[in-house]
Amino acid sequence: MSSAKKRVIISACLLGEYCRYDGKTKVVNAVIEAYKEYEIIPFCPEDPLFGTPRERINVVEVNGENRIITEITNMDVTLRLEEEINAFCAKHHDIDAIVLKSKSPSCGYKTTSIINKEKIFLHFGSGIASTILSKKYPNIKIENEIEFEVK
Ligand code: SF4
Repeated sequence: MSSAKKRVIISACLLGEYCRYDGKTKVVNAVIEAYKEYEIIPFCPEDPLFGTPRERINVVEVNGENRIITEITNMDVTLRLEEEINAFCAKHHDIDAIVLKSKSPSCGYKTTSIINKEKIFLHFGSGIASTILSKKYPNIKIENEIEFEVK
């Protein structure tokens, strides 16, 4: 018989970590409360790679493909983020739930602005982390904090 807790991945900024690009947090107590019985696994792919604060990044559609590109310096950081996120997933199996920050170029799930190279809004889509996590954990519905704020 196992008494192991269920496990939830949550965007670290929703847990109160000051890891957003602007050095701020976006704590949502309703998320923490909802998963207080779970083992919480904080997740932030950007902070370990780029530090905090850092240059803003965007999801840019290039030749029909979503790339992650820094806003001012125009660097394509897609590969670096993919490696970071894949490494995180490789360390975390047996996940029961996922809550990610909406609208983020990394964590946003179906809520992130996708723009073109001229920075014109095209449509809403998913960030690079939520895209990868949805494939790695195909049986888990990704939630975002907006769903908790309106409950
Ligand atoms: S939205 Fe994701 S990548 Fe951005 S600060 Fe929060 S956890 Fe980090």
